[in-house]
Amino acid sequence: MADAPTAEVVAALRADLLSAVGTAGLLEPEDFETRSCDPFRPVPILSPFVARPANAEELSAVVKAAIAHGFRIVTHGGRTGVAGGAFTRPDSIVVSLERMNRIEEISDVDQIAVVQAGVPIQALHEAVEARGLFYPVDLGAKGSATMGGTIATNAGGNHVLRWGMTRANLLGIEGVLADGTIVSSMNRLLKNNTGYDLKHLFAGTEGTIGIVTRAVVRLVPLPTTQSVAFVAVESMAKVLRLLNLARAMPALSAFEVMWRDYYEMVANSGTGRRPLEPGHDYHVLIESLGNDPEADEGAFERFVQRASDEGLIADGVVAASERQRRELWHVREASEVFVSEFGTFVSFDVSAELNAIERMVEEAYAALRARFPEVRGGTFGHLGDNNIHLGITIGEDTVARTAEIEEIVFDVLARYQGALTAEHGIGTLKRDFLRKYKSEGELAAMRRLRDAFDPDRRLNPDVML
Ligand SMILES: Cc1cc2nc3c(=O)[nH]c(=O)nc-3n(C[C@H](O)[C@H](O)[C@H](O)COP(=O)(O)OP(=O)(O)OC[C@H]3O[C@@H](n4cnc5c(N)ncnc54)[C@H](O)[C@@H]3O)c2cc1C
Repeated sequence: MADAPTAEVVAALRADLLSAVGTAGLLEPEDFETRSCDPFRPVPILSPFVARPANAEELSAVVKAAIAHGFRIVTHGGRTGVAGGAFTRPDSIVVSLERMNRIEEISDVDQIAVVQAGVPIQALHEAVEARGLFYPVDLGAKGSATMGGTIATNAGGNHVLRWGMTRANLLGIEGVLADGTIVSSMNRLLKNNTGYDLKHLFAGTEGTIGIVTRAVVRLVPLPTTQSVAFVAVESMAKVLRLLNLARAMPALSAFEVMWRDYYEMVANSGTGRRPLEPGHDYHVLIESLGNDPEADEGAFERFVQRASDEGLIADGVVAASERQRRELWHVREASEVFVSEFGTFVSFDVSAELNAIERMVEEAYAALRARFPEVRGGTFGHLGDNNIHLGITIGEDTVARTAEIEEIVFDVLARYQGALTAEHGIGTLKRDFLRKYKSEGELAAMRRLRDAFDPDRRLNPDVML
């Protein structure tokens, strides 16, 4: 179906969707006119319906109804994704997992949770914490980001250097394929090599192979100690030495770096987030999470002392209370300051080898300045995982010239063999660059995999490739 579907087709689809999910499960345009497909700017839903199945069987019926009427399907979790993966078109219906929001089971003995795809990450955190357990995937958008969305994007976040990305915490999956087939592979075991490990069809494939409905995830004991330091460092060479010192701490859980442009923007934003005076090239937030109060806190103190003795820290503060720890994290998680300071901006989520990151960032800004002298940016990220984010604005023309801005940055990145997305995914916004930077063989293998499961591109048709 090339253009907007006719009223007749829409009416027939509506009838079938209603019989699949009932009135509680179907939203019509007036119900979702204020919903955006993007967390930072209004991107309306162009689809005629948002179907909200209550289980995999209902979802299967929704998928079959969409196919029968020539519609495609775009899946929505919490709509916090920043790669445009939730963007819609008139010949698509939206499937939202928001009614599948139950935590079905938490097992203390096996340390696993069985969750439905629409459960927000924070809701799982709170439920397992009450049982002395911890789900390590943690990100700034955790209040809205869902289990299904984080699995589909293989989300990273703040604790990757200790516990890995979402995929590493996933044991089993249930999902629905593009023809409505329900795949239940709800493995609960740490070791299980019985055939293909089907969860990987869904993890990190951005809803192009199937729609996640439920999952089994691994939990770990709830950390009982948390130490957080926020320090100023004068050079990237020192930041990297600091990282190596920090890595010797078994309880190290985060190593987050803010470049001068980012920290000055946040510290001067009037939001009260200014733990140290600006004026240094880098600020680093280091966190350890553990279960042995004496050993962990002692190790953290020795780390800070040693870093200071070795001249790695120009200024710093160690949080003395839970409130201070939250405030220090708040400095690092200040994405809304980009919106208030820059208005529109192009966001990058790249990774590269640590010894290349400083040069890569400098060259990217130099190349941007050569084309756009008015460019401003904020640079920060999960340096401990090789991953940095850049928010770039050139003012009013930012949206119109996004492709040029991206091309400049990605060309520099390619010289350093970096990854054009570290954790946010390709979505609809980076797909041209995927084609440009992946090798022919890789692209062919990806296409073949997708063709095998969804030859007609029914699921998330504009995502990935
Ligand atoms: C303030 C902020 C901070 C963030 N920090 C991080 C971070 O540290 N690390 C990180 O990795 N990301 C981060 N993100 C990005 C975002 O939160 C993640 O990509 C997250 O995984 C998206 O989850 P969601 O439920 O909102 O999915 P959505 O945005 O709704 O969807 C994202 C993609 O997944 C697909 N999808 C959603 N649900 C399903 C499902 N059940 N089955 C199949 N496909 C599905 C969608 O079609 C879309 O392509 C951040 C975003 C914001 C706004």
